[in-house]
Amino acid sequence: MYFTTIEVPLHSDPENEFFWSTSEREFPSFNAQSTWNDLRPRDSIKNWAPKFWFKDATPRHAFNMWIAHFDRLPTRQRLLSWGLHITSECCLCSAHEESRDHLLLRYEYSESVWHLVLARLGMPNSTFVAWTALIE
Ligand SMILES: [Zn+2]
Repeated sequence: MYFTTIEVPLHSDPENEFFWSTSEREFPSFNAQSTWNDLRPRDSIKNWAPKFWFKDATPRHAFNMWIAHFDRLPTRQRLLSWGLHITSECCLCSAHEESRDHLLLRYEYSESVWHLVLARLGMPNSTFVAWTALIE
């Protein structure tokens, strides 16, 4: 709406000067990087972010951890919440509801893996009751 009210300047007119201005500085022409930095929404750096996104992280694992952190894995518990007509039983043990916390923290095999990992790291051998305990 605003652009339509401005008369288009002529390149041939020597009094017209063109530049692209962002909060960083002025550019002689359009600058995508600086424009993107101005336009994209920014939020504060979350305290969990360095735990998932670090220099030597395997991208696939970092992405899965990030998805799991926001509880966006397609577990049966979530699929049911979307209206799918399926059972909520865990596909591995059929004894509990299949949720992120069950699959990754409380399932028997997961717990045994966590015990090995914690032992290897020299940390006290305990189980994670909830996802927040793992992240902390
Ligand atoms: Zn299970």
